[in-house]
Amino acid sequence: MIKLVLQSHQSYIKDMKILQHEQGYYKKKWTGRIPIALVFPNEYSVGMSNLGFLFLYQRLNSYEEIVCERVFFSKTDKPLSIESSRPLKDFRIILFAIPFEVDFINALKMLFNAGIPLSPENRDHIVLAGGVAITANPTPLIPFFDGFFFGEWEEMEDAVVPLFVEWIDNKAKLIESLNALPFFWTSHQPKEEVKVAKAKNGFKPVVSRLISEKAEFKNSYLIEVFRGCGRGCRFCLAGYLYRPPRAVDKVALLEACKNLPEKGKVGLIGLEFADLSLLKEVWSILKTKSATLTFSSIRAETITEDFLPFLSTTRSIALAPETASEKLKKRVNKLIDNELIFKLLEMFKAVHLKKVKLYFMYGLPGETLEDLQENVKFIRKIVKSGFPFLFRFTFSPFVPKPNTPFQWANLLEIKELEEREKFLKRELKGVGELSFEPLKLARIQALIARGNEETGLVISQNLTAPTSKLLKALEEAKMEFKDRGSERFPWDFIKTGVKKSYLYAEWKKSLLGIPTKTCRVGECKTCSACSILES
Ligand code: SF4
Repeated sequence: MIKLVLQSHQSYIKDMKILQHEQGYYKKKWTGRIPIALVFPNEYSVGMSNLGFLFLYQRLNSYEEIVCERVFFSKTDKPLSIESSRPLKDFRIILFAIPFEVDFINALKMLFNAGIPLSPENRDHIVLAGGVAITANPTPLIPFFDGFFFGEWEEMEDAVVPLFVEWIDNKAKLIESLNALPFFWTSHQPKEEVKVAKAKNGFKPVVSRLISEKAEFKNSYLIEVFRGCGRGCRFCLAGYLYRPPRAVDKVALLEACKNLPEKGKVGLIGLEFADLSLLKEVWSILKTKSATLTFSSIRAETITEDFLPFLSTTRSIALAPETASEKLKKRVNKLIDNELIFKLLEMFKAVHLKKVKLYFMYGLPGETLEDLQENVKFIRKIVKSGFPFLFRFTFSPFVPKPNTPFQWANLLEIKELEEREKFLKRELKGVGELSFEPLKLARIQALIARGNEETGLVISQNLTAPTSKLLKALEEAKMEFKDRGSERFPWDFIKTGVKKSYLYAEWKKSLLGIPTKTCRVGECKTCSACSILES
């Protein structure tokens, strides 16, 4: 879930001497090395639970020629690195990892607070970015960044790092050389298209060895057990960007588990599609090390009696039915049966879970009052059933994302979303713990997600403005999209591997309430993402 940073985290970081709470960080001498600031434009606790960010930190520091230090967002202070408290200005390369669209705002604020000119022509620093939100649509940041990476780091690293080393003293040459790579894009020499780099089957799993008491996944080693998900939920950006679903190298995964320290906390990432027999092998190793498990997410349909032993060391679990309405389930292509949720709750009793979180969306395309009433009925039934758990029900407004079938969907006006939120709050009053994502923030997220360069300029003109003023300005600059397959989007130059015609066909199926089957990798070429597995 996206978090808006409301207070100064830099002072927090200084006060608590953050390195004392960490294990596995790098503290390297700067002399003779290329200093790279790896920037996560959100809270420390969020960034420190982001496997991609932690992986990049480890990989860059594995090079003798590079010193890479982490920098997190601070609302008021000048951004400083965690490892040596150096200001952002001291780094030659400033590399942002951006998983959430609203963090585009924080990224620009960080440059501004650091005294680094927003305009690439006015600075020597090399400001680059990558991450899920960038791979989906970086266009709002085009006026301010020197270039963008698209895709998965392990597929790019061997080509990128030597260029960093060779051209570090010549910014123009470095950008030009990077731009010769198919997965890099810069406005200095814009290419017609950029290809998202993806690892093939059997890649080494990403494992983080940097742990922190202050991370969301407190003191947890994170291990990737599978990449991608073939379920095809039409709203899910990660589901489309990480296509096709891919298996990690089994030997490397089991080896990584064996190398973990005793009694560690382990977060398994990518469980949705992982093979149960592989998970059993993982668990049998982790058990001998007295490890405890945490999960990023679990796919409800895969939880069977066999899966319960994995839950024996965890206290809380999250499920995301998204909606209880049969009609909307088909529209969004997430077909988790309501009865299945009840069966799972029965099963969870056996492993003494304490807390169950359930995630719902509202404002989905085609949603009516009856659909919301079905959610209310379903939640009330769960609570009345007397399960011994603490329930938390979280509601998020639907945000249409680029490079998904819902890129053609209408964005509900904030007044309409407010009405729906009010309805749910009223009808669910006194029912367990309820949480609603802030509406203005969700609306800002939606406007940035499908934004263009103008969106970025509006953000840059409102960096110190209150949220409501920024929202108003973004609304005025908003683009409208037509429901036609030939509609031109600002992010069309990004080739994710999934055909646009497939996305449009999925959008049309959604309008008709026709579901699509789960991926059958090896048997299907429908969306064309699997072609990378053949090359
Ligand atoms: S080609 Fe078929 S199996 Fe492969 S990712 Fe696309 S829909 Fe899934």
